[in-house]
Amino acid sequence: MELNRPLIIAGPCSAESEEQLLSTAQALAATGKVDVLRAGVWKPRTKPGTFEGAGVEALPWLAKAREMTGLAVATEVANAKHVEHAQAFDVDVFWIGARTTSNPFSTQEVAEALRGTEKMVFVKNPVNGDIDLWCGAVERLLACGVKNLGLIHRGFSGFGAGSLRNAPMWHLALEMRRRMPELPMICDPSHICGCREYIADISQQAADLDYDGLMIESHINPDEAWSDAKQQLTPETLAALLDSIKWRAGESSSESYKVALMGLREQIDSLDREILQLLSERMNVAEQIGRIKRENDVRILQTARWEDIMKRVLMSSRSLGLSEPFLRTMLDAVHVESIEHQNRVMKEE
Ligand code: PEP
Ligand code: MN
Repeated sequence: MELNRPLIIAGPCSAESEEQLLSTAQALAATGKVDVLRAGVWKPRTKPGTFEGAGVEALPWLAKAREMTGLAVATEVANAKHVEHAQAFDVDVFWIGARTTSNPFSTQEVAEALRGTEKMVFVKNPVNGDIDLWCGAVERLLACGVKNLGLIHRGFSGFGAGSLRNAPMWHLALEMRRRMPELPMICDPSHICGCREYIADISQQAADLDYDGLMIESHINPDEAWSDAKQQLTPETLAALLDSIKWRAGESSSESYKVALMGLREQIDSLDREILQLLSERMNVAEQIGRIKRENDVRILQTARWEDIMKRVLMSSRSLGLSEPFLRTMLDAVHVESIEHQNRVMKEE
């Protein structure tokens, strides 16, 4: 399959009925903005007792939607049986869901079932922020001769996502792209957001971070959806949202842009040097503290002092224009390094 850039995959979270899937597919195709129709046939639900997908019964609906609209079709596969059934209906694009990527036994089983396929296979990030697991899933597929691979960033749970369902943790996805630069990476803002409100923002951020496309859930009647109702968009809303996203160029040949950018980058490099120099000096002072503590037989960790520093710095969060989570992460890293330096001094004797 030739990949459009940006590649737009859209469709309902789940295939619920033939009528629902076909009407959604037709409305999506009519927008002219969608490349691939997605629909979950088997749904990995966190809790039992919710809709788990129509199963094999939905595969003919998917094939019919393709026939009626000319759109390629995609579905999630989580075990060998799913792959076998989906292949019998010549599904064009597969994706491996976040819960499956989290389990090496499952990814191995799916990889073996897909052995040698020419079809496009997307691997979603695992639910937790373990990039090695994500890489491992890709490596298992590569080892089974699956060549047309892509990545889907759908956010991570357990990081305090705020108003979002899954924290994007953009840096983890970017680290994955650094490790696997040859694989296209698309963003799934629907599962990052968990609600409609922020989907446009997250999509624009993905475009600005040079993602290769988007996978967005769209349903003909979102409020009545049997799964993920809160985050699905009507095909019309999706079309307007896609129109609003700016896929900016990676570079510009404008001379004034180049000169301005070079100047700002020099400033960044010089500020980075200064920050690192100051941190190094801070560690020297910490070592001196370590020495006088050793001479006076005082232990390294003094919790009250650290809490004071934290409180003082967090209070200046607003005036510095730096978020509290950032300040906490940065201070924690500085604290750990400081203790390391003091430990070293303590051991010197
Ligand atoms: C889905 O795409 O509907 C889905 C279940 O996503 P995830 O695996 O990202 O939770
Ligand atoms: Mn979903």
